[in-house]
Amino acid sequence: LYLDRIAAVDGEVHAFLHIDAEGALEQAAASDARRANGDALHALDGVPIAVKDVLTTIGLPTTCGSKMLEGWVPPYDATVVKKIKDAGLPILGKTNMDEFAMGSSTEHSAYGPTKNPWKLDRIPGGSGGGSAAAVAAFEAPLALGTDTGGSIRQPGAVTGTVGVKPTYGSVSRYGLVALANSLDQVGPVTRTVLDSALLHELIGGHDPLDSTSTTTPVTGLVDAARAGATGDLKGVKVGVIKELAGEGWAPDVMAKFNESVDLLTKLGADVVEVSTPSFEHAMAAYYLILPAECSSNLAKFDAMRYGLRVTPDGDPSAEDVMKASRDAGFGDEVKRRIILGTYALSSGYYDAYYGQAQKIRTLIIEDFKKAFEQVDVLVSPTSPSTAFKLGAKLDDPLAMYMQDLATIPANLAGTPGISIPAGVSDQDGLPVGVQLLAPVLEDARLYRVGAALE
Ligand code: GLN
Repeated sequence: LYLDRIAAVDGEVHAFLHIDAEGALEQAAASDARRANGDALHALDGVPIAVKDVLTTIGLPTTCGSKMLEGWVPPYDATVVKKIKDAGLPILGKTNMDEFAMGSSTEHSAYGPTKNPWKLDRIPGGSGGGSAAAVAAFEAPLALGTDTGGSIRQPGAVTGTVGVKPTYGSVSRYGLVALANSLDQVGPVTRTVLDSALLHELIGGHDPLDSTSTTTPVTGLVDAARAGATGDLKGVKVGVIKELAGEGWAPDVMAKFNESVDLLTKLGADVVEVSTPSFEHAMAAYYLILPAECSSNLAKFDAMRYGLRVTPDGDPSAEDVMKASRDAGFGDEVKRRIILGTYALSSGYYDAYYGQAQKIRTLIIEDFKKAFEQVDVLVSPTSPSTAFKLGAKLDDPLAMYMQDLATIPANLAGTPGISIPAGVSDQDGLPVGVQLLAPVLEDARLYRVGAALE
């Protein structure tokens, strides 16, 4: 069914970079056989899933949306991929993304943009626009994404899907081609909060292959979503983040956000305003920490070990080959961040840039701590506007970066977050998302409040 839908609409939406019809049908048949046999099944056994092309998959290309990895087929599965396979979820294919997960519109993919299924002249968000669009276009009921600064939540908001960034370290990053190791998290992209809870519990938990993996078991999320679905939020304290609302936020987004806040009150929650003054500097800190980490991560694409190799004419040295390959293999946004990161890490500049950014990071963690002494969850709009037109911000990196104003603080602090559909804009009929944030390892709160709001 989903393969038929992909065949019918993906020519226009372009959510997928690779479709594995044969593999998915084989896995589906195996699932049918288990069911016929009366085997004990995982709740999601047989439910197809799409996987962002930044997660390694045995036998399936993994390009990270880059020419640099065109044709590369990994010899190993990411831990999350292994987990979904073991639970019997057929993998439909790999989804489009901004190159190496840098972007907010999926327009930085080397393989062409994904379109927003709500309106094909709009962006689907990024970097995980492919996963979000696949779910929004009913090409897949579930997808996996990764969120370093908002790449699950912001695409969720602009495509009307649910997207979750789990607590840092609670889902394995093994087999995730790193953008920024201290910020990256794998998470669910789904149509309902309960689906996200089921997928999140499945992919979460300790992994000895990831040195930052937490040992706390990832449980209670499905129960929390079921409890929330009753619509009773009595006793729950919710904080509206003062700094992430109002000025700079599109009025149609604010209108829907305010409706969500009213709904929280109606469901019995105690809603107050909370201030997090350091969030104002989150974006500046992020755009130093992220380029610093990614410039180091991307050094491995040297044309010697894997990926593209361009050999210039004449008698080129190894360095000539590296230069030519990196020039041809990386797109503009990737190059911009490598240059920024290398500069920030240069000797003599470390304290002025990276060191300062780390201090801001600490202040943001403290802001969260203080806020969570007052409330159980925080709430804000996920993204400052609805989906903008393809091409609208492509030549203006700063405007593109602004998309993640509300999502970045959670990555810097390691806290979990969810984006939930909050209805459609009165102005353009496009989806608006509301974001909930909880303390580290309290992901269950997102599901309780999220399911009530849904
Ligand atoms: N848009 C952000 C960036 O470009 C988010 C990236 C992400 O979460 N992968 O860095």
